[in-house]
Amino acid sequence: MRFDCLTLFPDMMRAVLSESIIGRASAAGILDIRYTNIRDFAENKHNRVDDYPYGGGEGMVMQAMPIYRAWQSVTDNGAKKAKVIYLSPQGKVFDQKTAIRLSQEEHLILLCGHYEGVDERVIEEIVDEEISMGDFVLTGGEIPAMALIDAVGRLIPGVLSSEDAYSHESHFDGLLEHPQYTRPPECLGRTVPDILLSGHHKNITEWKRKESIKRTAKKRPDMLLNAPLTDKERKWLDDFLSEELI
Ligand code: SAM
Repeated sequence: MRFDCLTLFPDMMRAVLSESIIGRASAAGILDIRYTNIRDFAENKHNRVDDYPYGGGEGMVMQAMPIYRAWQSVTDNGAKKAKVIYLSPQGKVFDQKTAIRLSQEEHLILLCGHYEGVDERVIEEIVDEEISMGDFVLTGGEIPAMALIDAVGRLIPGVLSSEDAYSHESHFDGLLEHPQYTRPPECLGRTVPDILLSGHHKNITEWKRKESIKRTAKKRPDMLLNAPLTDKERKWLDDFLSEELI
């Protein structure tokens, strides 16, 4: 899968995305992550890409044309069809469902804004979708773009060792993941739940499912409304919660 990052800070992104799992997947050619410096498309002596906002107000705004030319350079003048995402605090908040949907695309272009944001006209012209990392404001779109690449990239076949590595994780099926333990069996005065050492796979699977439901109920009760629970599991959860309240 190909990602094109349109950014003023390609080195920042390259430094992060060349490490660890995403870095290895890029080196292996499974992910093709490219960086385009919007400043290279400035067409003025000082390579300026921002200017004062019309109508006054604080800060600077990224100009439309350097971004437009950067987009043209990665799409052969718009001939190559690729979904363009503008990382923006005004976008739809990113979640696992969106990551799964975007992992079906072959090519994503990620526009990272800076300063007060981007001239609206280039958003209207090239952007298909605005995505936010949450209801807070960052200084730039690079960190959100890297988070998106990480979340989408790890769903691409071959990036993780198997589909199992992500399909049981938090949010994949509308629940949080069960607690995890590793060696040693005892530390900090606490032990690993006996069942995980029992070797009884059916009971372990059942325990994991129940723990996953329990912690979703405790940590993110809002998720339970749409969680894929069987009637039997809902009944068990009701009993568990009423016992907890006693
Ligand atoms: N003036 C803009 C507003 O109020 O909507 C905020 C601009 S912000 C300081 C600069 C850039 O950071 C944005 O253009 C966007 O690319 C990025 N950014 C900031 N917060 C973000 C968030 N929560 N999610 C995604 N991108 C964000």
